Amino acid sequence: MTVDAPIVELDVVDRTYGEDPPVHALREATLAIAPGEWLAVVGPSGSGKSTLLNILGLLDRPTAGRYRLAGADTGPLTDRERAGLRSRMIGFVFQSFHLMTHRPVIENVMLADIYRKGSRRDRHERARAALERVRLDNRAMYSPSRLSGGERQRVAIARAILGRPQLLLCDEPTGNLDSATGNAILELFGEMHRDGLTIVMITHDPAVAQWAQRQASIIDGQLELISRVPHSGRPSTADEFVDDMQSKICSRCGLEKPMSAFYRRARSGDGRQSYCIPCSAIYKAQRGHA
Ligand code: ADP
Repeated sequence: MTVDAPIVELDVVDRTYGEDPPVHALREATLAIAPGEWLAVVGPSGSGKSTLLNILGLLDRPTAGRYRLAGADTGPLTDRERAGLRSRMIGFVFQSFHLMTHRPVIENVMLADIYRKGSRRDRHERARAALERVRLDNRAMYSPSRLSGGERQRVAIARAILGRPQLLLCDEPTGNLDSATGNAILELFGEMHRDGLTIVMITHDPAVAQWAQRQASIIDGQLELISRVPHSGRPSTADEFVDDMQSKICSRCGLEKPMSAFYRRARSGDGRQSYCIPCSAIYKAQRGHA
């Protein structure tokens, strides 16, 4: 069996801000994401999620370590080369949809392609196809102000996939949506993932992270892979953690998880409870330890 080369490779990546004293927003992050994987990175506010996403999206540079995207070392690239790589390879979906309310939906979708200097010839058809992909082709001429939150996020997703990116980076994509609408968006990510798109989704919400095929936690800038499950597109169940020999139930979220989803000596909770790593992160944040 041939194993696909990773599309994303972080090799002992640090990002510090300032000097006096430096803020270590990302510490020795090491990660490999294969083409077609869906990874959720879960952590509380201030843990380094945006820092990680900015580096993966070529919006920021590591202060140490190496980031390879599709096998290319991004370190030596100029800002212009990085922008070119970003526009060809990466799509972004944010918590706030960033749509222009005075332009119809289809123009919002096409605009990203104009900035990207994509081919003009079939831009309209591609935008139509992207809207069809998110099942909003019947809203092409609507103003975004007439759409629901979930529909607006679908427009943002259509805009993100118009250039056929290989990597979709999502920053709290369901953060402004109620849970039913958010789940519909996660179903859509599941479909795109099954079509072969590589997705990295950052979230503070363990329930959202459960939709991904793989999860990592980030706490105080430390990134740690916590699970790998064979299927995705809906919340994981105990049955899906087939590659872990042992599991236990998290006392906070109530889900059965592999032992690798827990700290070796669980410190969160009241001593008798055992929280999984995402729940520990939430617990710490709520207690103001983040
Ligand atoms: P998250 O997205 O998980 O909320 P961030 O990546 O935004 O976390 O921040 C991680 C840490 O880095 C925080 O302590 C934050 O205050 C700090 N930080 C982020 N951006 C900057 C910056 N531009 N200058 C200084 N510190 C920063």
